[in-house]
Amino acid sequence: MSGPDGTNGRTADDRAGDDGRARDGRTAANGRRPGPPLLELRGVSKRFPVRRGVLRRVRGHVHAVSDVSLALHAGETLGLVGESGSGKSTLGRLALRVVDVSEGTVRLRGEDVTAAGRGALRGLRRRAQMVFQDPYSSFDPLLPVGASVAEPLDVHLDLTAAQRTARLHELVALVGLEPEHLDRYPRELSGGQLQRLAIARAVAADPELVVLDEPVSSLDVSTQAQVIGLLERLQRELGVAYLFIAHNPALVRHASDRIAVMYLGEIVEVGPADEVYHRPRHPYTQALLSAVVVPDPDVQRARRRIVLEGDIPDPSDPPPGCRFHTRCPYALDVCATEAPPAYEAEAGTTVRCHLHTAGPQLAGQPLSRKEIVR
Ligand code: SF4
Repeated sequence: MSGPDGTNGRTADDRAGDDGRARDGRTAANGRRPGPPLLELRGVSKRFPVRRGVLRRVRGHVHAVSDVSLALHAGETLGLVGESGSGKSTLGRLALRVVDVSEGTVRLRGEDVTAAGRGALRGLRRRAQMVFQDPYSSFDPLLPVGASVAEPLDVHLDLTAAQRTARLHELVALVGLEPEHLDRYPRELSGGQLQRLAIARAVAADPELVVLDEPVSSLDVSTQAQVIGLLERLQRELGVAYLFIAHNPALVRHASDRIAVMYLGEIVEVGPADEVYHRPRHPYTQALLSAVVVPDPDVQRARRRIVLEGDIPDPSDPPPGCRFHTRCPYALDVCATEAPPAYEAEAGTTVRCHLHTAGPQLAGQPLSRKEIVR
């Protein structure tokens, strides 16, 4: 018999234990979890056509995501970090098939999302949800927010009116709000309250995965901390996995078990969060992290900022070889012609850089150093 939440009367803890969902949200020190992944991307690429002229002919393609392979396990948070335009948001949308891949496969619990028909896709929408950066754009301005929060319940669960109301009240309590908030219009709520309700909607139908696309970027600092705390608590209580997309590496490190770093559509480094944050191996990760301001003034004074020369290249005409070679302080001749393969470095990290595949004797020994240190 279905309970008030339409989930057969099971508790959140019961649900969290299903299918190996983890409740502690932690990943082993080597960065790997046992068992098959919840979400798996293999060789995923996305090209968007560039149309020009009166006839809108296709004149080229933007290579938004190129040959990305990633895995995310149940109950885990994988942080995805990189500059604006690196392809992070597109990758999040590909994972949920909000946009279709150009190449590669996406699997959720082994099921091929890229080949799913309408029925299977409906099931996917229940199991995998998304929270967007701007909470105001996530709600219909003409409807009370309760109508939007209830949408997954109406689409995916067969609830009576009483069950629907009980579940809505459970959801607003889960995100620290009151039932009367459901009757308000988006303009009557703060950004933090709306983002809490967007999160309530995302977890309404008990998903296994939520893609969080810059979920706190538009909020003030104190509200950011509250929303991050809420996400962490929900993960402990519900066992949901997060793909956490953000441009702030410090925030991603705090919220994530593992971190993947993107540059110009490619994953250049992935590994356990503390390992990537404290011992970045890829020159781009090193530059990205050098810009993070640490709260301790003594530590901050001792830090070196690596300022990269030049802008991020045009994604419709990415550089050959290593895509980072036009800005890399350590570029070798080979970097301009040959794309570095994924190299399994120590401590569970994987890095795409010739310095590592060429052997430790080259690592950290720049042949042409263009770094500017401030
Ligand atoms: Fe720099 Fe070459 Fe490594 Fe790319 S492969 S990050 S250009 S050293």
